[in-house]
Amino acid sequence: MDPIIVITGGSRGIGAATACLAAERGYAVCVNYHRNRQAADAVVETIRQQGGKGVAIAADIAIESDVIKLFKAVDNQLGPITALVNNAGILEQQMRVENLDAARLNRVFAANVTGSFLCAREAVKRMSTKHGGSGGAIVNVSSVAARLGAPGEYVDYAASKAAIDAMTIGLAKEVAEEKIRVNAVRPGFIYTDIHADGGEPNRVDRVKEFLPMKRGGQPREVAQAILWLLSSEASYTTGTFIEVAGGR
Ligand code: NAD
Repeated sequence: MDPIIVITGGSRGIGAATACLAAERGYAVCVNYHRNRQAADAVVETIRQQGGKGVAIAADIAIESDVIKLFKAVDNQLGPITALVNNAGILEQQMRVENLDAARLNRVFAANVTGSFLCAREAVKRMSTKHGGSGGAIVNVSSVAARLGAPGEYVDYAASKAAIDAMTIGLAKEVAEEKIRVNAVRPGFIYTDIHADGGEPNRVDRVKEFLPMKRGGQPREVAQAILWLLSSEASYTTGTFIEVAGGR
């Protein structure tokens, strides 16, 4: 049986690229999406046209009951998972600290941190040898912002990604003996629509001349690092980070 993977926020950007690459590498893929069913279906269609197996399943990962339903649907439609990519995340409009309110902070942390924790919990329940599973791997999508802080623009986002980094280290140690590895990638500036959500659609092009490699990254370049961390080639790698940021 093909190994089974859940990719949150898989309908576009880094998530979609990871879904397609995972299918190419032989995974049966759950493409989780939040609102855009059409985009998720298009990713699944691409996977199927390439001879792979994929299903699109809706869930707002910030909502606990949605996450529980998502993983049950994967159990029923695909089978027991051995891999999770906590990719879903949000970037809200650029804002200095004076204007941040609790509602915004709660939204950012709910999607970026709580959602990843809840999905990791459901994955561990299924993959841990302690619970009868056969082990597996989790990759969290963090950001270089976790160590740079994104001053003046997205400090809330950076803080949420730093929480993901701490969660990566802690969970990795917590479940290491149960045959589950937990790692993270920290993308730099990648060409996706998240920058439009953050209020600056052309952000990557604006900053690229300041980057060591003088270019932004492509979603597939992040996906390649994610798939390596999931693979048996990374069998002794846990609790750590790969920066996919062109040397930033
Ligand atoms: P994107 O906006 O294209 O993708 C994010 C996906 O997450 C979207 O499909 C969105 O619908 C989904 N999502 C958001 N909230 C959700 C929720 N509550 N439930 C389910 N799905 C939800 O952007 P992207 O750049 O592909 O982002 C993927 C990940 O990469 C994010 O975690 C982001 O923070 C991270 N990242 C991106 C960059 C970059 O430059 N693009 C840099 C560093 C980190």
